[in-house]
Amino acid sequence: MKPLYLISTRLAPSALTKALIGFIALVCLSLILATAWQMKQSRNERIATAKISVSNIVLAAEQLAQDTLRQADNTLRDLVERVEHDGVDGDQRVRLEKLMAQAVVNVDGIQGLFIYDAQGNWVASSLSQGTPLKNNGDRAYFIYHRDNADVSIHIGSIVESRSTGDMVIPISRRINGDDGTFAGVALATVPVAYFQTFFKRMDVDDKGVIFLALNNGDLLARRPTLTALMTTNVAKGDLFTLYLPYSDSGNAVIKSVVDGVERIYAYRRVAGLPIVAAAGVSCEHVFAPWWDYAYRSMASIALITFALVLLGLLLYRQIQHLITAENDLNIARTELEVIARTDSLTHLANRRCFDATLHQEWGRATRNKSFIAIILLDIDWFKQYNDRYGHLQGDDCLSEVAGIIGSCINRPSDLAARYGGEEFVILLPETHLAGALIIAEKVRSAIESAGIAHATSPLGNVTISSGVVAINAPGKEGYKAAMEEADRLLYRAKTKGRNRVEGQLLENDGFAANLILLRRDA
Ligand code: GH3
Ligand code: MG
Ligand code: MG
Repeated sequence: MKPLYLISTRLAPSALTKALIGFIALVCLSLILATAWQMKQSRNERIATAKISVSNIVLAAEQLAQDTLRQADNTLRDLVERVEHDGVDGDQRVRLEKLMAQAVVNVDGIQGLFIYDAQGNWVASSLSQGTPLKNNGDRAYFIYHRDNADVSIHIGSIVESRSTGDMVIPISRRINGDDGTFAGVALATVPVAYFQTFFKRMDVDDKGVIFLALNNGDLLARRPTLTALMTTNVAKGDLFTLYLPYSDSGNAVIKSVVDGVERIYAYRRVAGLPIVAAAGVSCEHVFAPWWDYAYRSMASIALITFALVLLGLLLYRQIQHLITAENDLNIARTELEVIARTDSLTHLANRRCFDATLHQEWGRATRNKSFIAIILLDIDWFKQYNDRYGHLQGDDCLSEVAGIIGSCINRPSDLAARYGGEEFVILLPETHLAGALIIAEKVRSAIESAGIAHATSPLGNVTISSGVVAINAPGKEGYKAAMEEADRLLYRAKTKGRNRVEGQLLENDGFAANLILLRRDA
């Protein structure tokens, strides 16, 4: 049965307002949180996808670098072995150059092959016969091999080729003499453009980047290319300072030191080579569709929230109207209740109110076994008053008398009412006969003292007569008999000359127990 109670529970308007505001706030908050969560998820997904895509590009770049440089190195190793064994004089040189020219054609990525002697003079090259011989003794890679006994592969920073003018990556090996002294250098050049052409085919956005760099930060190839590519070093960038020292591969979100663009990067040290490969897509590119989605979501949320708030305001206003209407209704009901209980002429309680109160108080006196008293009052010679002064003044007289009656009772439980015509009644709960007679006498004397002129009364002024009854622990239905007894006593007061009070204590069986008579001389 409990749910039925719940359903029928009526919320107070203020609680309804709070519930409404709470509900709308909750719905808005839930919507915002759900959308924020969704946006975060979608952002994470985009980042994850971008990381996978750049990681794949880096793997491809690493593969190409490895393949190209390893093949170039193998060719160099052959050449060095041959030079160290057979020398480069006479026919050997012709054979060597033929071999070199063939290797350049066969090995992908190699543009030129060169042999220098211990002074850096060109001894043999893959270039066509007749190319003027030069000296490369000043090149960094040459100086490196001259000064280092290390015979492994050396990859140098980009140089401008003296034979073609292109930017090339020098890959070189040291040539030793029979006694292990420095005898020269074998060099393979890989054009930067070879890598950059490959990078162009990779799928990164316009602001994305792919690059190969030496471990010292010197760039070897880059998409997009730079005018100062040869002299650009990225060793101070976050990738080299914050990430590569701790991990040979990974992902990072970095603002480029070269162009200031923020990108999601993947990077790898190329296995077995002093090279780093990296690729990055711009955050702008990654998040552009996400922002689009975010703006649309935020706009819908704002719209829904606005609509909900509007709806809430409408409902709030309706509730306020309801509250006002209910308050007005309560006031009107209270006023009606007062009107229904009040006599319009005298403003005392009316007969209906008296009957209800008598019933209630009589019941209480029965239950509590307490006293209850009734005073019935009637204006003397009132017909004559009307005849003499007219009905309207008669009404005024009734009002005045009622005012005096009302002013003579003090206890909140006492009730003065117009009983009908020019008759009044006073109900006095918890009052014994003596007390009731005092009140009745007080009323009588107050009206007499008011000196309302009544020329046709033998008494000269308006006066009243009263019948007073009191009873202790009355029987349930005894009030009818009590009223009749009060009426009888009133009649007796009239017959005894009016302007007097007749009282009697009643017993439960209705017999008179005592009779007290207050007389006043007219
Ligand atoms: P008694 O001393 O025996 O009571 O004489 P009485 O003239 O007062 O007696 P009666 O009950 O015969 O007359 C009552 C009169 O009260 C009759 C009526 O004209 C007048 N009356 C009753 N109700 C009203 C009222 O509301 N306004 C006015 N002006 N007169 C009323
Ligand atoms: Mg009368
Ligand atoms: Mg009268």
